[in-house]
Amino acid sequence: MRIDLHSHTNCSDGTDTPTELFRRAARLGLDVLALTDHDTAVGWAEAAAAADEVGVEFVPGIEISTSHRGRSVHLLAYGVDPEHPELAAMLHGIRGGRAGRLAAMLAKLADLGVPVTEEQVRRMQGDAPSLGRPHVADALVEAGYVADRKEAFDRYLSDTGPAYVKRWAPGVADAITAVRAAGGLPVIAHPWGRGSREVLDADTLRGFVAAGLAGWEVDHNDHDPAQRAHLRELAAEAGVLTTGSSDYHGIGKYEHELGCNLTDPDVWEEIRHRIG
Ligand code: AMP
Ligand code: ZN
Ligand code: FE
Ligand code: FE
Repeated sequence: MRIDLHSHTNCSDGTDTPTELFRRAARLGLDVLALTDHDTAVGWAEAAAAADEVGVEFVPGIEISTSHRGRSVHLLAYGVDPEHPELAAMLHGIRGGRAGRLAAMLAKLADLGVPVTEEQVRRMQGDAPSLGRPHVADALVEAGYVADRKEAFDRYLSDTGPAYVKRWAPGVADAITAVRAAGGLPVIAHPWGRGSREVLDADTLRGFVAAGLAGWEVDHNDHDPAQRAHLRELAAEAGVLTTGSSDYHGIGKYEHELGCNLTDPDVWEEIRHRIG
């Protein structure tokens, strides 16, 4: 069984449509794939239909942008009801914060000598309800300032870059509570990846388990082998699940091919049982 529990489409900042995503999953021999776009479930219906067609099991998910001590923490929510009022309001607020920071980012980019317009960025966003820095990166690429998204992040848009602007996000514990209320299973994405590592020490993770966290990603390309071993040990101590995923974004993110990391079939059975 090949199980990948974290991927993106052009409903947020990936580049494949949900249909393309599931066709690719079938070609690559995946059995199970979760679609976890940032802060939206809008791709689920198309993904479910495409998954049916190609014979891959679709897992509904959302990657929720939360924060802890000023750092960005991503919370995967499997099997949630996105219309649950508390969660829907939270997601709406997060997407509003995403859009709200755009003007400030564009002003910084103009000051840095690489002006792009809101109209250009919105064209890159297309119909995606969730605006992200990768769309700003795409506008910089189109304008010819940088070669690709990676260079745009390295020079301007990373969390420590000169054009970075913070956006509103709910606290991790509040998001865990909202996900549970909406019938979902909350799992922290790449806890020791970029940004969140400094704020997610063992005690903090244990605190989130007490608040209802079901587990965390271990096998993710942002984690090296030593981090994976340590995260697995902490999860065993805390009695929570560990998952693996590609965090595939299409051509928007390199070295994250679908299926490059997988979730253990026993863990998947447990997750399926709990969200069923
Ligand atoms: P945002 O959600 O607007 O804060 O943007 C964060 C998103 O940008 C992440 O979820 C990734 O998809 C993407 N991202 C972050 N850093 C990089 C990078 N160095 N190269 C390409 N994409 C990145
Ligand atoms: Zn993303
Ligand atoms: Fe993430
Ligand atoms: Fe992701």
